[in-house]
Amino acid sequence: KKVEYKNFPMVPRVVFGNGSFDQLGTILMAKRKNSEAPFIFLVDDVFEGKELPYRIPTMFNDRIVFISADEEPKTNQVDVLVQKIRDDFSEIPSGIVGIGGGTIMDLAKAVSIMMNNEGSSYEYQGWDLVKKPSIYHVGIPTISGTGAEVSRTTVLLGPERKLGINSDYTTFDQVVLDPDLTKGVSKEQWFYTGMDCFIHCVESLNGTYLNAFSQSYGEKAYELCKEVFLDGLGETESRDKLMMASWHGGMSIAYSQVGVAHAMSYGLSYLLGVKHGIGNCLVFQYLEEFYPEGVALFKIMQEKHQIELPKGICANLSEDEFETMISVAMGMEPLWENALGKEWRKTITPAKLKSIYEKI
Ligand code: NAD
Ligand code: ZN
Repeated sequence: KKVEYKNFPMVPRVVFGNGSFDQLGTILMAKRKNSEAPFIFLVDDVFEGKELPYRIPTMFNDRIVFISADEEPKTNQVDVLVQKIRDDFSEIPSGIVGIGGGTIMDLAKAVSIMMNNEGSSYEYQGWDLVKKPSIYHVGIPTISGTGAEVSRTTVLLGPERKLGINSDYTTFDQVVLDPDLTKGVSKEQWFYTGMDCFIHCVESLNGTYLNAFSQSYGEKAYELCKEVFLDGLGETESRDKLMMASWHGGMSIAYSQVGVAHAMSYGLSYLLGVKHGIGNCLVFQYLEEFYPEGVALFKIMQEKHQIELPKGICANLSEDEFETMISVAMGMEPLWENALGKEWRKTITPAKLKSIYEKI
C-alpha cells in the first residue's frame, strides 16, 4: 500500500516584530471588499477599557466584539456569533480578526469557516468535513504557547465532544506576531500557556509519529522554551522567544500529533471545564513514566517560577464522572497511538487512567 503524506496548509503571510500590530490597517485595507462588508474584530475582553482597542484600525461599519476567555470556545457560541453577524450586516464580512489567546483565535477561525458553510459548527468537528473555503481571517496572539496561530484546527466544545474542526480552511490567512501584545499576562497564565508549548514539544519529540519535519520544529521550540523558562532572559527577549517557540511548537505537531497529557487534559476539560494550559500541567506533572526527562524539567521550571498547581481537583468525583473523563481521554486514539504505538491499549486501561486522575 502506498503511503499517503499529508499535504497541509501553512499560514501564507506573517508579520513579526514589536509594534507590528500598528501595520494592521494597511494589511486589512487590501482585503476590504467594499464599504458594506465590514471587518469583525473578536477581541479578548481583558482588553476592554485598555489602550489596545483604540489601536484597532476600524473603518466604515467595522465592529469590535469583546469576548470573555473565561470559558473555552463552544460550538453554540460560534453559531450565535455567526447568526448575529448575518442578521446585522447586509453583506458577508471582508474578514474576521481574532485578537487574544487560543480561545479567541479559535473562535475567529471557527466563525470565518461558518460564515461560508451551512448548519451548525458541531457538524464540522472532525477531520476534513468543511466543504467551502472560510472567509479571510487574521490571527493576532496576545499570549504565547498554544500554537493556535499556525495550526489547521480550531478546538471547540460541542454538545457531544470536545474536538477540533480540522481542515485546510481553518488555518489563518494572515498572522500578526507582536510580542509586545503579551505584556499584561499574569505570571501564572504565562507559565500555563507556555507549558502548553513545552508539552507539545515533549509529546511530539517522544511520539511514534515523529519525522524529520516535526523534529526540526519541535527541537527548536524545546530549546527556546528552555531558554525562556530556565535561563533568565531579559523581558523583551523572553517575550520574543516564547512567541517563536509557540509558532515552532505548533508547526511540530501539525505534522505529527500530541500525546498522553493532551488526551487526559481533554477529559478534565470536558467534565470539569478545566482550561487547556493548566489542565495539561495538572496531568503532565504525573507522567514521569511516559516522559521522564520532560517531567523532570517541568518540575524545575515550576520550582524556578514558584508556580503552585491546585490540588484535589478529582478528589470528590463519582465513579460515573471518572468513567466519563476516562472515556473522553481514551477516545483520543491518534494521540495514544502517537504516544505509545499501535499496541497502546496494552498499557492504557481505564484502571491505569483512573490511578493518574486520582492524583490530580
Ligand atoms: P486563553 O486564550 O484562554 O487566555 C488565557 C487567559 O489569559 C485569559 O484569561 C485571557 O483573558 C488572558 N490573556 C490573554 N492575553 C492577555 C494579555 N495580553 N494580557 C492579560 N491577559 C491576557 O488561553 P490560551 O492558553 O492561549 O488558549 C487556550 C485555548 O486554546 C483552549 O481553548 C485550547 O483548546 C485552545 N488551543 C487551540 C489549539 C489549536 O491548535 N487551535 C492548540 C492549543 C490550544
Ligand atoms: Zn496544547
